[in-house]
Amino acid sequence: MKSNKFGFTLSEPRVIDYEANNRQIAEYIFDHEPTFRLCIECGACAATCTAGQFMTFSLRELNVLLKRGENDIPRQRIKNCMFCGKCILVCPRGVNTRGVIFHAREAFRKIEGNERF
Ligand code: SF4
Ligand code: SF4
Repeated sequence: MKSNKFGFTLSEPRVIDYEANNRQIAEYIFDHEPTFRLCIECGACAATCTAGQFMTFSLRELNVLLKRGENDIPRQRIKNCMFCGKCILVCPRGVNTRGVIFHAREAFRKIEGNERF
């Protein structure tokens, strides 16, 4: 991040390299919860999320990152979901959001061998 005396900062350029990223987790979710494909990343789920009111958690952000194969933040935060189901009620695309989270956790467990999930 560069700052200057004009009071604003310039972000470093950033490139998403889909070839280098690991899309295995996203592919697993696509296979087991096909409604994941319907997400348009509108953010309605994040706006109503119970967990998001108490901690850093956004299902919209997780959906975006998982589809890119950028799994670090989802791996850190996905257990913050309480499976309350409010997000399903507001999703305009009918995404089975709890199913997405359930299968993402399952993918981290099965593909990465991470028993924490
Ligand atoms: S509300 Fe539904 S369509 Fe919108 S970001 Fe959440 S899962 Fe995706
Ligand atoms: S099920 Fe999880 S992601 Fe959905 S509103 Fe509840 S805590 Fe948030």
